[in-house]
Amino acid sequence: MSSPAAIALDRVTKVYDKPVVSDISLEVPEGSFVTVLGPSGSGKSTILQMIGGFLQPTAGRILFAGTDMTALPPNKRPCNTIFQDLGLFPHMTVAENVAYGLKVRGVDPATRRKCTTEMLAIVALEGYERRRIHQLSGGQRQRVALARALVLDPAVLLLDEPLTGLDERLRQQLRGEISRLHRRLGATILAVTHNQDEALSLSDRIIVLRAGRIEQIGTPREVFERPANAFVARFVGFDAILKPERVDSGIADWHARVAGRDIRCEPPVSRDPAHDYVLVLRPERIRIADPKERSDLGPLTVISTAYKGRDVEVESRLVDGQALKFLISADPGVAVPASGSSIEIVWEPMKPLLLPDALVEP
Ligand code: ADP
Ligand code: MG
Repeated sequence: MSSPAAIALDRVTKVYDKPVVSDISLEVPEGSFVTVLGPSGSGKSTILQMIGGFLQPTAGRILFAGTDMTALPPNKRPCNTIFQDLGLFPHMTVAENVAYGLKVRGVDPATRRKCTTEMLAIVALEGYERRRIHQLSGGQRQRVALARALVLDPAVLLLDEPLTGLDERLRQQLRGEISRLHRRLGATILAVTHNQDEALSLSDRIIVLRAGRIEQIGTPREVFERPANAFVARFVGFDAILKPERVDSGIADWHARVAGRDIRCEPPVSRDPAHDYVLVLRPERIRIADPKERSDLGPLTVISTAYKGRDVEVESRLVDGQALKFLISADPGVAVPASGSSIEIVWEPMKPLLLPDALVEP
């Protein structure tokens, strides 16, 4: 028998005036890095705070290593939470912040100092012991918060939007550090974020959340390449979406009819009889067809174009009235179509995915 998950949620619900987390079951295997990915307001922080013991679920159980700890207070749970606002003590030095939890536990001063020094070295803050929190940059504060949690050697670390609000360079640096810490310390980590890149690079497993419900659980590759439905697809960047007039199932390929054209699609990975199918593509995988080339779809009328730095976004409309946005290279060698002109587009060798259209709010 495999060992029980470090964290398990068993049909957890949280209701305020309405449900904000609905019947969630999930497992975080020991030593793994799991990320809950969802838009703002989808219930991520609520889930984390229920696991940490700061909020009581309305229904359901929370288990650590197989033991039901739903009724226990935060300090009795084998986990440590780093909140989005970090919660550092502003009047204390870096070293005092990191040593605080050890002091509360009654660890002697010499051991406290030794552990604090070691942990500050791990998060690359040696020499910062005597600094005050307001004298640190955002990224340094984030690392102090990590050190303060990790020094207690928690079996489980809960991270609420660990990289949100940092500039791009710091994000990358801290992402690398969290990943190294995870491997080095072997801790189980559950992070929540609205940022798909963060989830992609750090996690063994991603749980996609929407309005308090799980839409998909999978490896980053599964979620990003084979999203379960149009909501997940749009969230991970497949946001060129077309509604077909008709869908015909096949053995290898399925076929969909859009604006009078027959389109070969990947067969759906999940079927959901409650929803119609939509075709989804990554906007950067579409390009404008050469006049002599066989196109995959068209004609489309160009509505507008917008320069985006690396790409140019083309907003277009099909003869059936559907809008389609996609990206073409901003390379000077790639012609930008004029507004009002008629174009055809190509996406081969990629095929569109055919997914249940779960875009309307449930
Ligand atoms: P996320 O972290 O994904 O942005 P939250 O878990 O913070 O989402 O919130 C989920 C939903 O619960 C939101 O709609 C939020 O407004 C609502 N919510 C959070 N806390 C409370 C509360 N104390 N009372 C009522 N509603 C709340
Ligand atoms: Mg939140």
